[in-house]
Amino acid sequence: MQTKVMDANSPEAIELAARLFSQGQLVGFPTETVYGLGANALDPQAVLSIFAAKGRPADNPLIVHIWRREQLEGLCEIPQGAEQLMDAFWPGPLTLLFPRTERVPKEVTAGLPTVAIRMPSMPCTRKLLQACDLPIAAPSANRSGRPSPTLASHVLEDMDGRIPLILDGGECQVGLESTVLDLTHGEPTILRPGGITKEMAEEVLGREVALAGSILRPLQEGEVALSPGMRYKHYAPQGNVTLVEGEEAAVVRALRENCLLDRQAGKSSCVLCFTEHMEALADCDPHDIGSIQDQAQVAHRLFDTLRQLDQEGRETIYSEVVPPEGVGLAVMNRLGRAAAFRTMKV
Ligand code: AMP
Ligand code: MG
Repeated sequence: MQTKVMDANSPEAIELAARLFSQGQLVGFPTETVYGLGANALDPQAVLSIFAAKGRPADNPLIVHIWRREQLEGLCEIPQGAEQLMDAFWPGPLTLLFPRTERVPKEVTAGLPTVAIRMPSMPCTRKLLQACDLPIAAPSANRSGRPSPTLASHVLEDMDGRIPLILDGGECQVGLESTVLDLTHGEPTILRPGGITKEMAEEVLGREVALAGSILRPLQEGEVALSPGMRYKHYAPQGNVTLVEGEEAAVVRALRENCLLDRQAGKSSCVLCFTEHMEALADCDPHDIGSIQDQAQVAHRLFDTLRQLDQEGRETIYSEVVPPEGVGLAVMNRLGRAAAFRTMKV
């Protein structure tokens, strides 16, 4: 199959994508979080082909994307608190879990009684969802286990020859996947941190929001994953990533020492550091993850940086960390998994 790449803002591209969706085919498309690999959520065969194209385990459910709230009718019930969160954060990077009806194919939810739904905000995504007016099931458009795509070229890297069309909408603004929040099990709980933070949700709900235990650590043996995606190895580059934590000057020193030691041992090694430390680490092939002052910028760049490490064939990588607060929690959730939570305290 030949994979066509078209400008996401061209009317012809949107028309073609909408037609492909109605025919049960797959399309890679941009959103404000990451690129998605979409299919008609009401077509079980189409949904199954998403799993095949990604190499995704069948027990990892998908997020359904809509452009207007009326599309919820007939698909799900609305749990308490959901209206307030939708008023505040839709369209935007917040996915909510809803008790589902029989109309949602079990292939979408991996047999779970809830369905995850989100309303993206990127204008071209909204146009696409409006043009087809179908609920679109879409996980991130990467091959399973690879970093999520934040550029059309990342989608092409992973999906060339597997899908008929990729819409190119440039860089994804947020750069990390949506926040997944569960209101269906009593205490509101964030299963996956993202651009909408715990503090933002708490302000709207007027009550405390819990964080799933496995956000900043691996799942323990026998622990049930509230969000099945947490079970799988995610976002891991081929090389070994080590996070370095501690006082600023000591971290910069440790990054440099470890990188240069590995080089002496013949390994291809590099560092991920803040813009402010690029100069001090100039002899370590530093990758700029953004300013120490700007967590949103670090989020925006993270996945592209992780993909570059593989392209460069890095064997060991030493990285700075951000405080796990606000959007920083989402960054550390992804970076922690990329490092298999290997941390050096200095
Ligand atoms: P992706 O869009 O590829 O990042 O994957 C969707 C994420 O949403 C995965 O981590 C899933 O585990 C999670 N998810 C989707 N549906 C549900 C659900 N019904 N319950 C819990 N987590 C879900
Ligand atoms: Mg994914």
